[in-house]
Amino acid sequence: MLVLEFLLAALALFFFCAFFRLPILWWTLLYAPLVAYTGSFALIGVFAVAALILNISPLRRVVFTNRVLAIYRRILPDMSSTEKEAIDAGTVWWDADLFSGRPDWDKLLAVPAPRLSQEEQAFLDGPVEELCTLLNDWEITHERQDLPPHLWQFIKDQGFLGMIIPKRYGGLEFSALAHSAVVMKLSTRSGAAAISVMVPNSLGPAELLLHYGTEEQKNHYLPRLAKGLEIPCFALTSPEAGSDAAAIPDFGIVCKGLWHGKEVLGMRVTWDKRYITLGPIATLLGLAFRLYDPEKLLGEKTDLGITCALVPTSTPGVNIGRRHFPLNAVFQNGPNSGKDVFMPLDWIIGGPDYAGKGWMMLMGCLAAGRAISLPTSSTGGVKALTRFTGAYARVRAQFKTPIGKLEGVEEALGRIAANCYVMDATRVMTAGAVDLGEKPAVLSAIAKYHMTERARDAVNDAMDIAGGKGICLGPNNWVGRGYQMTPIAITVEGANILTRTLIIFGQGAIRCHPYVLREMRAAKEMHGDEAAREFDDAFTSHIGHVISNGVRTLVHGITSSRLAHTPRNCAEETRHYYRFTSRLSAAFAFLADMSMMAMGGALKRKEKISGRLGDVLSMLYLISATLKRYEDQGRIKEDLPLIRWAVRDMTYHAQQAIDQILSNFPIKSLATFLRWTIFPLGMSFRPPLDARNRDCAQLVLAPGAARDRLTAGMFVSKNEADATGMLEAAFVATIACEPIDEKIRKGVKKGKIAARPGVELGLIARENNLITQEELVQWQRKEALRKGVIKVDDFPQDFGRAEAMAKEAKPTTMVRAA
Ligand SMILES: Cc1cc2nc3c(=O)[nH]c(=O)nc-3n(C[C@H](O)[C@H](O)[C@H](O)COP(=O)(O)OP(=O)(O)OC[C@H]3O[C@@H](n4cnc5c(N)ncnc54)[C@H](O)[C@@H]3O)c2cc1C
Repeated sequence: MLVLEFLLAALALFFFCAFFRLPILWWTLLYAPLVAYTGSFALIGVFAVAALILNISPLRRVVFTNRVLAIYRRILPDMSSTEKEAIDAGTVWWDADLFSGRPDWDKLLAVPAPRLSQEEQAFLDGPVEELCTLLNDWEITHERQDLPPHLWQFIKDQGFLGMIIPKRYGGLEFSALAHSAVVMKLSTRSGAAAISVMVPNSLGPAELLLHYGTEEQKNHYLPRLAKGLEIPCFALTSPEAGSDAAAIPDFGIVCKGLWHGKEVLGMRVTWDKRYITLGPIATLLGLAFRLYDPEKLLGEKTDLGITCALVPTSTPGVNIGRRHFPLNAVFQNGPNSGKDVFMPLDWIIGGPDYAGKGWMMLMGCLAAGRAISLPTSSTGGVKALTRFTGAYARVRAQFKTPIGKLEGVEEALGRIAANCYVMDATRVMTAGAVDLGEKPAVLSAIAKYHMTERARDAVNDAMDIAGGKGICLGPNNWVGRGYQMTPIAITVEGANILTRTLIIFGQGAIRCHPYVLREMRAAKEMHGDEAAREFDDAFTSHIGHVISNGVRTLVHGITSSRLAHTPRNCAEETRHYYRFTSRLSAAFAFLADMSMMAMGGALKRKEKISGRLGDVLSMLYLISATLKRYEDQGRIKEDLPLIRWAVRDMTYHAQQAIDQILSNFPIKSLATFLRWTIFPLGMSFRPPLDARNRDCAQLVLAPGAARDRLTAGMFVSKNEADATGMLEAAFVATIACEPIDEKIRKGVKKGKIAARPGVELGLIARENNLITQEELVQWQRKEALRKGVIKVDDFPQDFGRAEAMAKEAKPTTMVRAA
């Protein structure tokens, strides 16, 4: 046999075995005849030895993997317990498939589309709709700087604060999807209301009690929280510990003290917290602090660790009530503190047994809230922007053209619409995962980061389209407050830079990777034979995984993804997107492994690289959600432009992120090899076409089912006295009037009528019988609405301060006179 033939056959077998991820035994069986065929005893001998070592696990361990384990143990940095608890928290779901390099699309598409129950839908159509109708954002944000008392009462009475609390405690026991739908709808009306409802249903006293509370604590607090008899807040952040929350300096000392006249074992707690949402009005303070036991009253340990307690704010020594002023969002938020406040050990959530387990508790509960709160409120905000901005761009005309039809505006509008589709798809899929029992640690971080960033992009676009109308605040401005509030979502629940650079890939690489965590556990937590066996299995599988992903990446690159995996049953018009995503998933998995191999522990500090790896993973997740939504909604062809624009945009972004990683890769020769493997025929993904962008913009520039689907679940005011109600009415009237406007325009053009200063064109057209009387009435109504929409609020020079002061002074004068 010729050497060249042998090499070609060996290479072909290599590609075959690696591409299909065959186990090592299959490699051996397939290579054996080829090696035997050469007739070379030396080669057969080498092959036989290698085959024995690779296939017989005890032998493999002695010769190979035990040595690697020893090196691994030396170089693997020790993890702090807080790091370990953060890594271990939550579950992995579809992210593990994306990390595998071969996502099982059939599994994803088989997940039933999340649905609301009748009871949940009734709540949305009843109390939520009613609350939205009653909310007046200008009154809340400008005049009162708070929700009015009757709306606070409505929120409490209707159970909005107890959506996650089970019915047996008096709560609504809603699914994550319903919880999300409520917060989303409120977000389309008032940010302050949405946040005030969102926070008690997110990570805080109720969630912690449900998971860790003693029966006594649950029975006492949960019914009170469900009915709003307690207003909760959760205080973790300190001036010295923001992002690095585990570093809180707040402390408690275990000691004896007097409690209701009796000496009990308790703790003296000192804290200084800031930024605490609902803090200023809270009656129940969830407090995180580090607990010390210097006298060893509880056991042998002196530093017990982070501990969470529930502290009634009426407790002497608790200083609470002052407010911050977060970017005019006016939800209640402020600092609180206490010095040497004595409290019984029973106030620890879960009781004294849970002293020092606070960080584990917080990390364990973080994912569910993070999967819902900010992804949902951001999606709500973007739904409102999509609907309102599309309507405004049709009503507002410049250069005798609705501004939405000017290409520059159309570009921004199309982006908003397509992003809205992606965001809602991600919101629903992530909430659906929570309802399936997942606590998606990495996916919730992806959803939090990308939904808030997309909301920031969308509000910037919307502000540009609104022009001066968006800048001048007042009751008629539907975009300015959202613009002001956007950075809040970026900062809270894990500030975005940190979430992107540290959590999405950092946690993902360890948690979602099929082998890394197993290897780490074997190296650090196991001993002897158990460690050797576990490490051997994980490490050899890991090598196969890397080889397979490398080969698949190259093959997909050469064949333009034609061999990439797609679902058995999906719409033909989207099948190629599954192929592209499978290809990118293989490339991502390969690149992630090569980056970890090349940079080791230093990758954690190379945040520009890990951030971009996180971007690729995130794009894969967002594309998956987008494609699944298309299937779940019954493959509605009218929505295809949104999917086409969005998927193309995301595949392009993923490709660009990979390109930037390779350009900045520390080992240049490896980077060249990786580039050749990942992009053998060059970078083939292109940004979305302008024509697709136009199609997306068209969907929101006219009333219709696609626009309604895109903005489904948001509050649409029917009150024309309300700014958004008027906008909706003006939008409908503008389109209905277009034939009349066309008649008038033609009349002017043909010289049949001419504009006269101070006289409406419609009247002139009527005088000249160009339009009927009914048409004039219709046209005048449209004009009145249009003028209302483009009107910008103005105020007295002192913003009404003198008038307000006079009003305040009046009763005093009258009292004196009496
Ligand atoms: C309106 C509002 C409401 C809030 N509500 C609550 C609440 O109810 N309860 C509560 O306990 N806390 C609350 N917070 C606190 C919030 O969670 C923190 O603000 C947040 O964790 C960030 O902390 P910081 O503001 O001190 O920023 P810093 O920690 O100072 O961070 C500043 C910047 O540095 C970046 N950064 C930090 N570390 C890294 C890193 N390792 N790698 C890369 N970048 C990094 C961050 O991403 C950020 O961009 C709230 C904050 C606000 C503003």
